[in-house]
Amino acid sequence: MTSVSAANADCLFCKIVAGQLPADVVASTERVVAFRDIDPKAPVHVLVVPKEHHGDVAVLAAADPGLLAEVVALADRVAGDLADGQFRLIFNSGPHAGQSVFHVHGHVISGARLGWTPA
Ligand code: C5P
Repeated sequence: MTSVSAANADCLFCKIVAGQLPADVVASTERVVAFRDIDPKAPVHVLVVPKEHHGDVAVLAAADPGLLAEVVALADRVAGDLADGQFRLIFNSGPHAGQSVFHVHGHVISGARLGWTPA
């Protein structure tokens, strides 16, 4: 797990949440925002991000499980709005798992019949 902090001035996704960097926002709630991934891997590839900074999904689950549930609920809503409601939700956790932005985000992958080749 990486560290928890309320906000992180060097964090890319904190800057998107703050409106300091552009993003193609598709949905939001009071505490969560969803925007299209700039390098999509599927017809629908959206990142669902809590506005509050948490390093990864385990940190978020420990700090605020209700907020993690809100992230999942918004992922479900996005998949219903942009595709057929069926989706894969991926939280890369740690560099060896492919995490490159250390502000927790769920990848909503949808809009196609998905294969299963995670490695
Ligand atoms: O799981 P990981 O940390 O690698 O995911 C980060 C994701 O953020 C990547 O899929 C990347 O394309 C996306 N990204 C983005 N907008 C940015 C920078 C990165 O959508 N400005």
